[in-house]
Amino acid sequence: MRRLSEDGLASLSDHHLLGAGAFVDRVPRLATDRLAVTCPSSGVVIASVACGDEELARCAIDRAADALPDWRGRLPGERAHILRRWAMLVRENQTDLAMILTLEQGKPITEARGEIDYAASYLDWFAGEAERCFGQSIPAHRPGMQMHVEWAPVGIAAAVTPWNFPSAMVARKAAAALAAGCAMIVKPAMETPLSALALALLARRAGVPDDILIILTGEAAPLVGPLMADSRVRALSFTGSTQTGRLLLAQAAGTVKRVSMELGGHAPFILFDDAQVDRAVADCIAAKFATSGQDCLAANRIFVHRPIHDHFIDAFARATDALAVGHGLAPDTLIGPMTTAAGADKGRAHIADAIARGARRATRRTIMGDGGAFVAPTLLRDVTEDMQVAREESFAPVAPVLAFDHEDEVIARANAGEYGLAAYLYTDDVRRAARVSRQLEYGMVGVNTPRFTGPPIPFGGWKQSGLGREGGSAGITEYMEQRYVCSAFR
Ligand code: ADP
Repeated sequence: MRRLSEDGLASLSDHHLLGAGAFVDRVPRLATDRLAVTCPSSGVVIASVACGDEELARCAIDRAADALPDWRGRLPGERAHILRRWAMLVRENQTDLAMILTLEQGKPITEARGEIDYAASYLDWFAGEAERCFGQSIPAHRPGMQMHVEWAPVGIAAAVTPWNFPSAMVARKAAAALAAGCAMIVKPAMETPLSALALALLARRAGVPDDILIILTGEAAPLVGPLMADSRVRALSFTGSTQTGRLLLAQAAGTVKRVSMELGGHAPFILFDDAQVDRAVADCIAAKFATSGQDCLAANRIFVHRPIHDHFIDAFARATDALAVGHGLAPDTLIGPMTTAAGADKGRAHIADAIARGARRATRRTIMGDGGAFVAPTLLRDVTEDMQVAREESFAPVAPVLAFDHEDEVIARANAGEYGLAAYLYTDDVRRAARVSRQLEYGMVGVNTPRFTGPPIPFGGWKQSGLGREGGSAGITEYMEQRYVCSAFR
């Protein structure tokens, strides 16, 4: 496997982005342990960050509580102005931020640049939303009364974020919370703390006051436990696995927090024989292999109409075999390493299980490099629903293809299971597009497109893929309460 030196971090134009001024440095030294950050492309340790404990988390809540009244009391326009300045600084530092992201997460540098843009777009979006939290005037149902509803910030919010989009998930959650007038304490994934620290530094430079956005780095349980137990933390936003989501939901019950969650996905990609197949192949490559397959929106079960099945397999296998696999900083790389060793093992286990149960590999590569962090992009044909790869989110560059015969059959198969985040549908028949899309039990449906996310849309899932929505006009309300006021004027 191609190895690049880790000079990347040394070449940053602004070294302060590597965690200078982090919360832990501003409080009496509570956390002395360090946590190593490893580049998954090379296995080399590139940095270390503070490994916080329960005491640090409790201190963060105290500090956020002290800082909150000032921030909550500012005019929405002022908060919006600061968020816009933050967006501008993120764009100005795109090269450094993308470098940090690629080195700690592994994704190809062009995708990392795209993620930084995506993160900035949420800062801009929620700046706008801050100024448009209109309430409601209610026609009175009692004589001599005036009735209205206004929105108020919920208070301190906690965010627990994943390693697959370490910049975008912090920005999407923090932008909404700060726009609403909340303080936010973020616990990024252990694998990817650097991107969160860099964003927080830029937030401070943009004018976000100390302790309104706090990043806590370290292991999950000691940091998240106190946040979940404390009644001053009024909201939790979580992105991660359904398993951890269930755990946090139970923990949130103790203090009845507002909870929004974006959990696992197991997206069906449904391709009918009346679609433009070659375009669908290219789109399916994008839907499957973005973020090296480690994406909750990734096409996880590719259902192909039997009349075009073999043609699709040939074209998709050729396109998959052409994908360059390598170090995230290599300019031609399209598929990077798996961010975690466990993730790579799971991808390989899914392939082995499917083949043991009768699936066939349609792509040429079987093993990449030393077989460590890199998983060979693999197309599996003859996949059936009893195989692990068809039942679980694989979070790896593994593409299972399942043939289908009838529309009703594929809808039922696509809707089976606990997940309901995103679905893809390819057909050129407008009636079929309308008919099928409205039967899919999914929060987001892409018809003839692999790209549908962005700040204006309500991002979120049905069933056990989540609760609440991020972005769109609903996103900011996850961090707000409604106050209904009834005034007598008689
Ligand atoms: P993945 O399996 O993809 O790493 P997780 O749901 O385990 O997904 O991780 C998502 C986020 O949840 C990370 O920030 C991780 O540190 C955090 N997390 C994992 N386990 C726990 C836990 N028991 N309590 C609180 N947070 C957790």
